[in-house]
Parts: sequence; C-alpha cells; structure tokens
Amino acid sequence: MPLGPPMKVTRARILLRGLACRCPNCGGGTLFAEGHLFRVNPSCPTCGLKFEKGEGTFLGPFALNYGVTAFGLVIPTVVLYATGRISSVTAFWICLAASIGGPLLLYRPSWGWWLMLYYFFLPDNLPANLNGRPEDDE
Ligand SMILES: [Zn+2]
Repeated sequence: MPLGPPMKVTRARILLRGLACRCPNCGGGTLFAEGHLFRVNPSCPTCGLKFEKGEGTFLGPFALNYGVTAFGLVIPTVVLYATGRISSVTAFWICLAASIGGPLLLYRPSWGWWLMLYYFFLPDNLPANLNGRPEDDE
C-alpha cells in the first residue's frame, strides 16, 4: 500500500499546539477572541481553520471540562471524605470550590484539548495536511 507524502503537521505538533491552546493547523493565533476570556473565535485569525464546526461543537469541550472536573476534583474529594481523611465540612467546601472554579479554569484548556483530540485522531483533516486535495468546506 503506497504511503502519501508525509504530513506537514505531525501528531506530536498537534498535541503541543492543543496544550498551548493554539490553532492545530498553523500554530498561530489563539482559539479565543482577543480581550475575551470565554469567547471562542469561529475560525483561526491566521489560517482560517474553522474551530466551531456547527451546532453542538461546544459539547466536546464541555464534556472534557465536566469529566476532568468530576473525575479529577470532585470524586477524589468524595473518596477522601468516605475514607475519613477529611471532614464533611472540608469536603463540602472543596467540592463547592471545585464545581465552580474547575469549569471556569478549564474552559479555555478544554477547547484546546478538544481540537487536539479531534485532529490527533484525524490529522488528515487539517488543511495543512490535505496534500493537494481540495479542502472540504463542511
Ligand atoms: Zn490557524
């Protein structure tokens, strides 16, 4: 089976760009509108890669954000309480802080992680890796 030309954007580069909340295609720009903490750019200001691919795009970052908050912060706190290592009052305040602060702190990284995961498994979908094939608009 013949292999095509090597990908311009490797999976390692996609991972690094995702962790840095950069565009997975060009590495330029940021995922978020300048001066706004929570407003996602609809597309990359540098290369034009669409970040929001239609209705429900936000569900991917939302699920990642929820999962990391629940499994990384809230459930370990409940386990610490259940094993008697922290008091119920301490567990309550940690869970309350984690439930509010976790999603706020993870909102921006979760968008980078989502695009990173999407293009890590589908690197051929990046316009930089199309190798001459016409870019699919949807
Ligand atoms: Zn870009």
